[in-house]
Amino acid sequence: MESKNLWAPWRIKYIQKLGRESGECFICQRVAESEDDDKNLVLWRTDKGIVILNLFPYNNGHLLIAPLRHIAELEEATEMEMLEMLKLVRESQKALTATIKPQGFNIGINIGRVAGAGLPGHLHFHLVPRWEGDTNFINVCSDTDVISQSLTELLGQLRKVSKEQNLPQL
Ligand SMILES: [Zn+2]
Repeated sequence: MESKNLWAPWRIKYIQKLGRESGECFICQRVAESEDDDKNLVLWRTDKGIVILNLFPYNNGHLLIAPLRHIAELEEATEMEMLEMLKLVRESQKALTATIKPQGFNIGINIGRVAGAGLPGHLHFHLVPRWEGDTNFINVCSDTDVISQSLTELLGQLRKVSKEQNLPQL
């Protein structure tokens, strides 16, 4: 079978930062900076969880769903946090379906740096929308300014649909 690469050249900025800022947790930072939700691309906050647009997405609409508490492992999560995260995954999927109409989704958690976790200290789900052929055209969309622009636009669309469809909000 022919193997295909998923090109995400904007991720290099993120990868280069990993070593330098290992003491910081960007999820905790976003949880704390509630007045900066627009700048921080925070979509929703609930009692126990937060949903953020991934600044370095694998695909358009790539969301991160995390508990508010800085915990690394599923076994550290309470029953309520587990339920909340999965509910937020479900509601996020609804919001994405209503806005950018993905044809499929990848949902997953990377536990540990070796498994690909960029932020191993703070548990989070990845929700990545997929479209037929999406691994073939992404490589042309590598300009960072274009990406951040579309993230802001996407955040606006997702917030609008959250209101309309009674989904979680800030
Ligand atoms: Zn954290």
